[in-house]
Amino acid sequence: MAVKERLESLYAELPPEIALVAVSKFHPSSAIREARAAGQLDFAESRPQELSAKAAELADLKDLRWHFIGHLQTNKLKMVLPYAHLVQSVDSERLLDAIQDWAAANSRTVSVLLEYHVAAEDSKQGFDECGLELVLEKAAEGCYPGICFRGLMAMATNTDEETVVAEDFERARRLFLRLSTMAGEDFDLLSMGMSGDWRIAVEAGSNMVRIGSYIFGERI
Ligand SMILES: *Cc1c(COP(=O)(O)O)cnc(C)c1O
Repeated sequence: MAVKERLESLYAELPPEIALVAVSKFHPSSAIREARAAGQLDFAESRPQELSAKAAELADLKDLRWHFIGHLQTNKLKMVLPYAHLVQSVDSERLLDAIQDWAAANSRTVSVLLEYHVAAEDSKQGFDECGLELVLEKAAEGCYPGICFRGLMAMATNTDEETVVAEDFERARRLFLRLSTMAGEDFDLLSMGMSGDWRIAVEAGSNMVRIGSYIFGERI
């Protein structure tokens, strides 16, 4: 199946209120053009250099929305923040402080999701529950005037056991609802679900899925 058919089959199955972000990491700009021609506007990258290079190559496609989903080091902000519609992988207070400094220096507001570490693997990044509460308390006190907190991003444990995956997503959903009461009105995105587990994520309440290999094939 070509990219267009893959996208069409996803849109046929996804409830219309759920956003689809096409994860284009490790795929060439030509694949993004193909997806854009089929109507896809939201794309995600995980490496700063790759994002800035593709944003330059595809600058003629003015309506693309770039999402950043990889671990972001504070010394790489310049390669990401000028292009990013949404930084989905904010995983530390140190990073938030650096984003706030960049936003102030550049008179911009940066939209972010906070990454919730729900999976069993230690290798995955993200805040625990207390860390998330602390950040939103600080935000309510006005510590991050240049940052718009849009919601949570979570990745489930990498396992074939669907009940484990479903439990991870449900825990994230419950936390998202609880945090929504302490966050601002903009806190309305719950980004969960990839090629292998997006149906489980949607069932558990995700409203944004990030799908790469199903759309574009194996990463190069
Ligand atoms: C790579 C990646 C995806 C997409 O994964 P696929 O299995 O290719 O759909 C989604 N989210 C994050 C954070 C990723 O790094």
